[in-house]
Amino acid sequence: MRLSKAVQTLKPSATIAAATKAKELKASGVKVYEFTLGEPDFTTPEHICDAAKQAIDAGETHYTPAAGTPRLKQAICDRYQRDYNLSYEPSQVVVSNGAKHSIHNVLSALCGPGDEVIIPTPYWVSYSALVELTGATPVLVPTTQESGFCLSAEQFESAITDKTRLLMLNNPCNPTGAAYPVETLESLAKVAVKREIPVLSDEIYEHLVYEGAEFRSFASFGEDVKNLTIIVSGVSKAYAMTGWRIGWTLAPVDVTKAMSNLQSQQTSNPCSISQCAAEAALNGPQDCVQEMLKHFAERREYVLERLGNIDGLSFATPGGAFYAFFDVSKFFGKPLQGGVVVNNSTEFCTAALEQAHVGLVTGDAFGAPGYVRLSFATDLQTLEEGINQLEKFLAG
Ligand code: PLP
Repeated sequence: MRLSKAVQTLKPSATIAAATKAKELKASGVKVYEFTLGEPDFTTPEHICDAAKQAIDAGETHYTPAAGTPRLKQAICDRYQRDYNLSYEPSQVVVSNGAKHSIHNVLSALCGPGDEVIIPTPYWVSYSALVELTGATPVLVPTTQESGFCLSAEQFESAITDKTRLLMLNNPCNPTGAAYPVETLESLAKVAVKREIPVLSDEIYEHLVYEGAEFRSFASFGEDVKNLTIIVSGVSKAYAMTGWRIGWTLAPVDVTKAMSNLQSQQTSNPCSISQCAAEAALNGPQDCVQEMLKHFAERREYVLERLGNIDGLSFATPGGAFYAFFDVSKFFGKPLQGGVVVNNSTEFCTAALEQAHVGLVTGDAFGAPGYVRLSFATDLQTLEEGINQLEKFLAG
């Protein structure tokens, strides 16, 4: 059958594809060290699961308003007020089927053919694909390991043309773990205001920030910045709720209305039961988030120490999220385990899985040739054994 132009060049998500390959190997009976997926390994906290069970018993099993229940929207507004002193009205919230869906809504509401969207690289796999789906053009702006993989105000400003519709910012960043310094954010915000460029600020890892780094919401640099910002976040990463599929946007009312209309035609409401669970996550005790963060911090320390001791690997210290993103290009063209020689990150990841049974994601998928991503959202023992395997693989 003839496919639409929009999907003809669409590739499946590289992280999901890498995880599928690792799962296939595992299914064949091989012990695989799985570091591909960006998904907390913890179970969803009990009080959140209980809220979902109660929601079913209470008959919360029907359509809700397309953009989310008034109760959840209020819980989201309360949270931004409480945590960041940011005032939003429920009329500025759209609750969607995960933050990925929220990003799609934003891009569909703001962009179309002929428009340009600035994306600092390395970037999360889905950004460019979702931009292209709207017919707009991603403008990739490379950041460097030396800058901690942060976009500078100068880079932002020089990428702006009369076609620029949006900057997509991800802080803390997947795949690099970059947590933007407050001053850098502020200087980006000044450019956004000066040049009147809306900013999609993907803050899905906002709670996963480690010692020495600080999280600031992009909307917090003044009313003029807030009026240009669309915050994207959700419960997936902070509350180990990836499967529940709840994300949201906070945006000016006109953009929110457009996204709400879009969603009402496209998917209707996100799952009613998940919305009740998300409400419990936001309104309930937050020590579960701190508890998970403690484990992530311990794993991060461990991984950075181990990788730092491997000759030939280099990386920028991740201030947030749960990824180590490192440069493996020194190993290209040299025999690795089993005598295998690789010439790029994609070949490196294939060989690491086949030879050492270590699942990593290629930097090529993130617009960062030469790099690979290791997710440390897994237990310490798996990390220890997997990095031992990686060391053997690199030693050849
Ligand atoms: N944004 C970034 C940067 C992510 O890494 C992810 C998930 O990996 C998402 C958005 C999507 O989150 P959700 O599972 O809520 O759709």
